[in-house]
Amino acid sequence: MADHRVKPEIPAVVFAKALLMLWLCRLPSLNALETSGRRGAGRRFLRHDMPCADQIANISEILDVPGLRAVLGRMYKRLVRNKVLRPMHGHRLAVIDGHEINASYDRCCPQCQTRQIMVNGKPRTQYYHRVVVFLLVGPGFRFLLDIELLQPHDDEGTAALRLVHRVLKDYPRCFDILLGDGLYPQARLFKLLRQHGKHALVVLKDERRDLLKDARGLFGPEPHASYILGATRYQCWDIENLDSWDSLPDKVRVVRSVETTTRHERKKGQRIQRQQTTEWVWVTTLPSAEVSTATAVCFGHERWRIENEAFNELSNQWHADHYFHHHPTSITALWLLLFIAHALFHCFLRNLKPCRRQGLPTYVWAWLMLSEFLLPLMSSA
Ligand SMILES: [Zn+2]
Repeated sequence: MADHRVKPEIPAVVFAKALLMLWLCRLPSLNALETSGRRGAGRRFLRHDMPCADQIANISEILDVPGLRAVLGRMYKRLVRNKVLRPMHGHRLAVIDGHEINASYDRCCPQCQTRQIMVNGKPRTQYYHRVVVFLLVGPGFRFLLDIELLQPHDDEGTAALRLVHRVLKDYPRCFDILLGDGLYPQARLFKLLRQHGKHALVVLKDERRDLLKDARGLFGPEPHASYILGATRYQCWDIENLDSWDSLPDKVRVVRSVETTTRHERKKGQRIQRQQTTEWVWVTTLPSAEVSTATAVCFGHERWRIENEAFNELSNQWHADHYFHHHPTSITALWLLLFIAHALFHCFLRNLKPCRRQGLPTYVWAWLMLSEFLLPLMSSA
């Protein structure tokens, strides 16, 4: 990693390693890292004394962000080479989505995004940071590849475009289909992807759009395909060559899936059956000759993995729902280090013998890592 300081007292890599350890041990703050990392495991790993929390915070503002991205790039290549990240039904999938890290009325920086919130009848300015994240998904594994922080006047689509541009430039073969939620049926994104020979498959839910209105008119009462997978019955409609998206020159395909899941519950000793029906509509540039209706529906649902296996896990189990240090470069650098730690942790879990892994929830393995990190503190006390 590059270090742009002249004659630094402590090399930048010590700080990067300290922050990686912060994530791997899932510590809640830089102070916790400072106090718990002074002896034992922390010192061995850093090959240096643990810097103090203020020093770590200051250096995190000038950490080498492109260098961290390059580390993730090397991890991505290794994961593909070792067949950990594999295609799904012959396609490499990626998911893009926005996420708000934290919001505050008091703490801000010049790069904060702002919004007005009514509090007790009065408008108050709330400051927040939002990021767009790029996740690669394959059977049994996912890899957080890159992140883009929204600038103060960015919308999510603009930041997403920057992020996709960078990924296409750095790793042109890392995906062929990009999945996204209802915010991403944007002509500028679809055009960029088509220019690079990639496809988009995103949720279409804005009922005001001509495309959705036209597609609804063409769906008809009888589904084009019906099948059952597990407890869910799928009824699907699939229409190609729609040209009612004015700002996009290409024709698109719209796939609709009405899914009825049957669940058996016990209430007052009686077995009752509950049915739940959900409807999904996706717009895609994928031709049906390349991807069948059922596979397109399966891919559409893979989008949820960014919510479940990334954002929820990072917020609930990794303390990623706050700023360790409120500064735009620090936020980006820390999240890139979080992606490295997340991938290392899941590679470690994947390599455990199944008999050891089974029966223990994931977070217990995180506790075991933390205890190994903290143990030397006890023995030297
Ligand atoms: Zn800020």
